[in-house]
Amino acid sequence: STTQIPKTMKGILVEKTGGTEVLQYKTDLPVPEPKEGEVLIKNDFIGINYIDTYFRTGLYPSQKPEILGRDASGTVVHAHPSATPTFHPGERVVWMGTSGYAEYTAAPASKTMAIPSAISSPDACAALLQGLTALTLTEEAHKVEKGDWVLVLAASGGVGVWLCQILRAKGVRTIATVGSEGKVGVARESGAEVVLVEGRDDVLGRVRECTGGKGVAAVFDGVGKDTFERGLECVALKGTLVSFGNASGPVAPFAIARLSAKNVKVVRPTVMNYIVTREEFEHYTSRLFKMMVDEHFTIRIHETYPLKDVARAHNDLEGRKTMGKLLMTP
Ligand code: NDP
Repeated sequence: STTQIPKTMKGILVEKTGGTEVLQYKTDLPVPEPKEGEVLIKNDFIGINYIDTYFRTGLYPSQKPEILGRDASGTVVHAHPSATPTFHPGERVVWMGTSGYAEYTAAPASKTMAIPSAISSPDACAALLQGLTALTLTEEAHKVEKGDWVLVLAASGGVGVWLCQILRAKGVRTIATVGSEGKVGVARESGAEVVLVEGRDDVLGRVRECTGGKGVAAVFDGVGKDTFERGLECVALKGTLVSFGNASGPVAPFAIARLSAKNVKVVRPTVMNYIVTREEFEHYTSRLFKMMVDEHFTIRIHETYPLKDVARAHNDLEGRKTMGKLLMTP
């Protein structure tokens, strides 16, 4: 039944690009109608990802006005008749899509998953997008090998804590970097063998020391502009530089001929292209749920903010004050 669905809802609207002042808290946004292939979900926990800041500032172009937000967990309200797989009202689900910063979202059924009973709704939301990113980066962007050394930047961040835990589980040896002393413990607990502090430690020197001068098999770099050049120096002969984000700004153009110095591979992936089909999405999401339930991965939630405090949440994230996932409640 659709009788209990209100006409309007709370949400965060962005009408123009800018600083956190463009994040407008609204109480009268229209509740979306699920279209072809969509499920209407009442969100309980809404995820914040670094990409939300790129759409807010305009680093990544997107249509405005816009409701930001790429992931949430909640309960199914109703589904468009065309939506596959089938979801039933009241079902507890987690989804990836767009327009998450609101009480209700019409999410793609193809990127929605029922949450296993052993996993809480906040944990499911905290895990899905960042966990799938770390899992696909370590399997497809660069398939890591047991015993190899790798370098993970921003290792106490949302994706970072997943990378470290997955790498540990795979028997990979991780050198991690963090932005401040207070973040060392989380990177270490997540599985990094060596944790370096940006600005304090000689990262390239320590990488060479750990690897007997060879460099790392792969660099997982979500920082971008500030660290790309150093990444090329840290990587071993025939190694891979996985550049998957721009927290410090976009990577400057470079001459590809430079890669021949060490036969380096540079990849610039997005998780979405690894989970295009329902089969791929279910394959990786099932793996992720298994890690959480059977392998006891730690889900790290920095803070659960009220939706109306979204500006503070973005400031904390961009101000490098957070560790793990940021969530909001509507
Ligand atoms: P994080 O929680 O990792 O937050 C970003 C972190 O980057 C900060 O905490 C900070 O950690 C570090 N950082 C380094 N330099 C800067 C800077 N100048 N300004 C701000 N932060 C800086 O965010 P997410 O886990 O959401 O995302 C991590 C990265 O992964 C982002 O670049 C994001 O865009 C990317 N990403 C890419 C995906 C893809 O499909 N390609 C999917 C998901 C995320 P510290 O202080 O320790 O240095």
